[in-house]
Amino acid sequence: MFELDDKIVRKNILDLKPYSSARDEFSGDDGVFLDANENPFGKLNRYPDPHQRELKKKLSKIKSVPSENIFIGNGSDEVIDLTFRIFCNPGKDKALTFSPGYGMYEVSAQVNDVGLIKVPLNNSFQIDFEVVEKYLNDKALKLIFVCSPNNPTGNIIDNIELLPKIFKGIVVIDEAYIDFSKADSFIIKIKEFPNLIVSQTFSKAWGLAASRVGTAYASAKIISLFNKVKHPYNVSGLNQRAALKALENYFGFEKRKSIILKQKSWLEKQLQSIPVVKKIYPSDANFILVEVTDADNVYSELVNKKVIIRNRNHLVKNCIRITVGTPDENKKLIKELSEL
Ligand SMILES: *Cc1c(COP(=O)(O)O)cnc(C)c1O
Repeated sequence: MFELDDKIVRKNILDLKPYSSARDEFSGDDGVFLDANENPFGKLNRYPDPHQRELKKKLSKIKSVPSENIFIGNGSDEVIDLTFRIFCNPGKDKALTFSPGYGMYEVSAQVNDVGLIKVPLNNSFQIDFEVVEKYLNDKALKLIFVCSPNNPTGNIIDNIELLPKIFKGIVVIDEAYIDFSKADSFIIKIKEFPNLIVSQTFSKAWGLAASRVGTAYASAKIISLFNKVKHPYNVSGLNQRAALKALENYFGFEKRKSIILKQKSWLEKQLQSIPVVKKIYPSDANFILVEVTDADNVYSELVNKKVIIRNRNHLVKNCIRITVGTPDENKKLIKELSEL
């Protein structure tokens, strides 16, 4: 049986009595509010809902999970950081992730003084479970981060459910790009796996990168730990409203997503006939990993033409990562690339 005891959760976090804000102690909206030392004048003068109830209610319907299984953070980067803070004792515990992968797991591990084991993905950018298994008996290993669709490779990772099955610690599946993929989200598995956290974001398919709104889905017990350690008003009122507005326009979301996916196919096709392109990796996301003859050169030549892509040469030899843009932006990219 998986228990959120002090073998898994840091003891100081289990024992923590969280800060109780004015809006925790009284949450109605009718009355004379003289409790939070706010300025009575202005439009942005009131503290926002610390628990983002309206946003959770809406997400709860869309994702078919109760609000108590949802955490909303200041971007998914907050989700990553809080996960380290809740589960890993600094200077002692370890986490595991895969390479090539998203760089924030490593930065966040370092900030929290947690050792990060990076297990290489195989030639098809999939997990080699035999290698992973070798690390799982280490009592200091508390977390596994897996990103699917993976950044920067773009592919869905297969057989992920093996991780929460065979590992006794916490498994975080980062689904920042899941809306672009045909694969199912692992949110439906949080009931089956009490050690699973699924993180998603408003920054990509929902088009709200400026708003910094990220979400985590997990057991109510794990979510209550997130709520204990988060800053009281971690998602601003402006950003809660922006996210709510986006969710209310589901048609617009689907429409923009379908344009992006059509443009991705167009780009994949065009890239095939470009001389400097050596390989186009299949993508389940809104970006394409492309091997070129000389990534450093292609990158700087494109910058000179004012087209900015991501040089991923240090992660995957001679690879660049291209985000799918608008039709005009993509045409410009193909024009400049074909002239190299
Ligand atoms: C872009 C991205 C995110 C999003 O982070 P936010 O803080 O929500 O903007 C998370 N994970 C991965 C792998 C990403 O590429």
